[in-house]
Amino acid sequence: MTSQKTAMIQIPLDIPQVEVLSTEIQPGGKLLIRVESQVETTPCGVCGQDVRCTFGHGQEIQLRHLSVLGLETYICIRPRRCRCYECETEPTTTQVLPWYEQRSPDTKAYDRYLLKQLVNSTIEDVSLSENVGYDAIVGALNRQVDDAVNWDEVDDLNTVGIDEIAMRKGRNNYAAIITARQHNGKVQVLAVLPDRKKRQ
Ligand SMILES: [Zn+2]
Repeated sequence: MTSQKTAMIQIPLDIPQVEVLSTEIQPGGKLLIRVESQVETTPCGVCGQDVRCTFGHGQEIQLRHLSVLGLETYICIRPRRCRCYECETEPTTTQVLPWYEQRSPDTKAYDRYLLKQLVNSTIEDVSLSENVGYDAIVGALNRQVDDAVNWDEVDDLNTVGIDEIAMRKGRNNYAAIITARQHNGKVQVLAVLPDRKKRQ
């Protein structure tokens, strides 16, 4: 008789300074990866001094991350907290790690992924294919809008693309995604620029 055992794989989680506590596949096909920060300190929100995170944890946050084998994937973390005794009011601060932004529902890696999906596409299309709300995609786009292009990351400018994304139907609110095809054939996002052109 053939074995019914499922073949398993192990792949590295490409997120720095965390430890994986558990993984769970929910019935709807959602993969939850629970992690714990290994970063011991965080800057005090008031005085800016690094303080050891010994003041427990905040509420768990779930951050959408790059899909694993077609599963909607979330990184779940209870952020560490610190209390600063140097400041008069002894304020507490919740740690934020470099791979996500405070109040963002996504990891930065997933924000960048969404941006790439928008090239030659529309917000509606990406919203459907990723099962992410329209406003959440606009949010991801807005988090990456920058007035400057990081030219250091570009090795080939022979094929540059400019994609204009309408951020709201019927309103004059556009962003432009600038991309360049690199030597290795991959498309690199150079910048997301606000497009302030007047339109009718
Ligand atoms: Zn302080």
